[in-house]
Amino acid sequence: MDRFDPIESMARMRHEFGEHGGVNMCIETSTTFTVMDADTMPEIFQGRRGPDTGGCYLYGRHFNPTVYVLGRQMAALEGSEAGYCTASGMGAISATILQLCESGDHVISNNTIYGGTFALFDEFLPRKAGLDISFVDATNLAEVERAFTERTRVLYVESLSNPTLRMANIPALAKMAHDHGARLVVDNTFSPLIVSPIQLGADVVVHSLTKFVNGASDIVAGAVCGTTDFIMSMMDVRCGSLMLLGPTMDPRNAYEISTRLPHLGLRMIEHSLRAGVFAERLDQMGIDVIYPGLERHKDHALFKSLAHPDYGFGGIFCVDLGSVARANEFMELLQNKDRFGFMAVSLGYFETLMSCSGVSTSSELSEEDRKRAGISEGLVRISIGYTGNLEQRWAQFEHALGEMGVARKVT
Ligand code: PLP
Repeated sequence: MDRFDPIESMARMRHEFGEHGGVNMCIETSTTFTVMDADTMPEIFQGRRGPDTGGCYLYGRHFNPTVYVLGRQMAALEGSEAGYCTASGMGAISATILQLCESGDHVISNNTIYGGTFALFDEFLPRKAGLDISFVDATNLAEVERAFTERTRVLYVESLSNPTLRMANIPALAKMAHDHGARLVVDNTFSPLIVSPIQLGADVVVHSLTKFVNGASDIVAGAVCGTTDFIMSMMDVRCGSLMLLGPTMDPRNAYEISTRLPHLGLRMIEHSLRAGVFAERLDQMGIDVIYPGLERHKDHALFKSLAHPDYGFGGIFCVDLGSVARANEFMELLQNKDRFGFMAVSLGYFETLMSCSGVSTSSELSEEDRKRAGISEGLVRISIGYTGNLEQRWAQFEHALGEMGVARKVT
């Protein structure tokens, strides 16, 4: 079988024309939709008629035509049967878990995940929904295997863990989950196009579209990709997590994001290229850098065996400055003196974004949990942008390193 190519898959998707034959699709802003005969209405409520069965739309919190186009584009990107979009990545993650689990069910999660997701699993869902969660080191397959119980419904990982950039062995984890009657859910926010989790055996892919997919740090959004049955179940009027919890994407945002998808591939290539150059040079200088593209990275071979070769190793690398104080000093120098990027959370922006994970996006983890996850105190996560000239950017970065007294040249 030909290897799945996400760009080809997106290109093959039927182009959705605008109302007047415009090359762009129209934005459907209506929050409610007419039916031509009254009998259609109960059929929509019963789930017998819908966007794919008779072209029937109901209400803006249910399917919206414009949001559904972006959902189909995300499904094409991920190679899933279906997809739908949400108001945020957290909306996608929480709705997915709640759809797959009943109160009392068990979820196994990697212990190194985005801090908000960690808090959702560690505090919120156990307290509010009665879920039982086990955190494991998902790179240790024996540990994952031992964590399964009779009630395990979900195994949850990020394709590349935030912020430590460990690669999930998706085929092995999918097999394990399926052997135990559970589903593998993968957050692919860090590696759109680079990794195709559904093609590797995952059941559901979730995304924060706020990051690389949108790419401009101006829209908060999310997506869920999976089987048609699963996406439809999330819209069920009696028991659907998207329909009833209502993390609805605005159709204007769906339109905006869909106009940025065509250049996602070009952007990922440039993010990866620059991250790769910086990581190699830092490594050669003897600086503690984490990047899956480095041969000495623990998951370099696994990454190469699972990822599409055309989009590199991702746009994020981490450097360890040893302490929070030194991490802060370094980021202040970079932002305020060298004009290199922004000291801000998030990632996937065209400008560089940098944050000290332990005191920001992983601060929801306790000190002990951070240690277990391998998140050192002075770890600075850098999402490399592609504005300006690579060599000028490197000169700015190298200057800040020099000011910090860490520019030890090995060569
Ligand atoms: N998943 C990952 C890996 C993230 O890094 C984030 C946010 O930083 C989220 C999910 C949550 O996404 P959002 O902020 O769009 O809700």
